[in-house]
Amino acid sequence: MQKVRGILIGRMQPVHNGHMQVISKILNEVDEIIIGIGSAQLSHELKDPFTAGERIVMISQALAEADVDPSRYYIIPMQDINFNAIWASHVKMLTPPFSIVYSGNPLVKQLFSEEGYEVRQPPLYDRLHLSGTEVRKRILTDDDWQKLVPKATADVISEINGVERIKNLSVKEISDL
Ligand code: NAD
Repeated sequence: MQKVRGILIGRMQPVHNGHMQVISKILNEVDEIIIGIGSAQLSHELKDPFTAGERIVMISQALAEADVDPSRYYIIPMQDINFNAIWASHVKMLTPPFSIVYSGNPLVKQLFSEEGYEVRQPPLYDRLHLSGTEVRKRILTDDDWQKLVPKATADVISEINGVERIKNLSVKEISDL
């Protein structure tokens, strides 16, 4: 029987517990999930500190930690392109075939629904705290960020000296103003 695949695309700067909860919900609805690592070309910026490779390790280790069967997901880095009107086709070219798009991002929902895809908006889990913005802000202010992310994310950030990187980027970006 043909597998039903869904796709979730996120910058995941960094992967946090909201991403993990939404992935778990999607896996209850489809056979396989495609996890797109968005804006793959960006790194070493305050809003996008981690490379696509680092984000792939974060998500794959977090999925292993959560005992998710590796045959049920694909992790694919996706660079941004300058043309929103053909972005959905660009994504389609990079991935296994899928029929359902999961997103809370208004532009992502618009672009895929115009191409005829079924778009589902998953519930937001504790969005006040579970967002990349909040995690990066807490890292910068030495607030308790570890509880917002899977242990695997915290481990990767520690291995790559990610806290130091974000603090250095903040000094650099302020001095560039
Ligand atoms: P994100 O990491 O903020 O969120 C990704 C998804 O995770 C969201 O859609 C949401 O469904 C889910 N999520 C996040 N926090 C959650 C929470 N607390 N609870 C439940 N679910 C939660 O990423 P994003 O900004 O939506 O990523 C979209 C990507 O698509 C970006 O990289 C963007 O550049 C790319 N994009 C590119 C183009 C182009 O290249 N022209 C066009 C559109 C989008």
